[in-house]
Amino acid sequence: MNRLAGKVALVTGAGRGIGAAIARAFAAEGAAVVLAELDGATAAAMARDIANACAGARTLAVQTDVTQPASLRAAVEEAQRAFGPVDVLVNNAGINVFADPLTMTDEDWRRCFAVDLDGVWNGCRAVLPGMVERRAGSIINIASTHAFQIIPGCFPYPVAKHGVIGLTRALGIEYAPQNVRVNAIAPGYIETQLTHDWWNAQPDPQAARKATLELPPMKRIGRPEEVAMTAVFLASDEAPFINASCITIDGGRTALHHE
Ligand code: NDP
Repeated sequence: MNRLAGKVALVTGAGRGIGAAIARAFAAEGAAVVLAELDGATAAAMARDIANACAGARTLAVQTDVTQPASLRAAVEEAQRAFGPVDVLVNNAGINVFADPLTMTDEDWRRCFAVDLDGVWNGCRAVLPGMVERRAGSIINIASTHAFQIIPGCFPYPVAKHGVIGLTRALGIEYAPQNVRVNAIAPGYIETQLTHDWWNAQPDPQAARKATLELPPMKRIGRPEEVAMTAVFLASDEAPFINASCITIDGGRTALHHE
């Protein structure tokens, strides 16, 4: 299928997990995809993997640190040199920083915000001038159900993710007249390395995994590809009037009061 034919997309944190699934789905739909990832080797391996799996796919790996505005600006310039102006940005890179508020270090606070909120803004700021000038663009920010629900002991990750929703709404409104759409996706539990790391950090990883799978009404957690399908939709011309919105992908978990 060619739902993104002719588009150039840049996906941050695309070396693995949700970002890799989005990059793969975008390439399968005909977009030229830039994998902007902290680990250059991981990005290059994933870019090759996608290109091999997807006949005719155009991929480019660019080592990028989303905490550094200059790094994102350079990635956007490299994308433009290789494929043309960036039509779609997915701010996906994120880290879990789960701590108790009062014992958390200042460094933990800064590390969380540097990636999970500043990183999103840095991406937006790097592409917005071009999108505004061309009067076209779609920005997709990967938030989380932590953007509207709180789990004790997971501070300050949800604070940053609440900020991602605020940033999405503010920029969506600001640049709507220029036809730039800014939306968010809020995944619930999705099976990635991030989730495995969290299970493995628990006293009984198997029990933690089992408990997580029981949480959604569908009695399973999501797959990265299930987030990618929504990203394709938001990036495509099928969602021209969806702006400053957030789509939740959690099998209904956040609608559940309790069982
Ligand atoms: P992963 O940890 O599997 O992947 C995250 C990717 O982001 C890694 O490749 C990582 O690179 C990269 N990354 C981290 N820091 C930076 C940085 N400074 N610059 C560029 N890239 C960076 O996570 P997921 O795929 O699970 O998560 C992706 C997004 O989805 C995150 O924003 C996360 O908060 C969100 N999310 C995930 C959920 C889940 O259950 N998995 C649920 C809700 C939201 P490296 O490995 O080299 O550090």
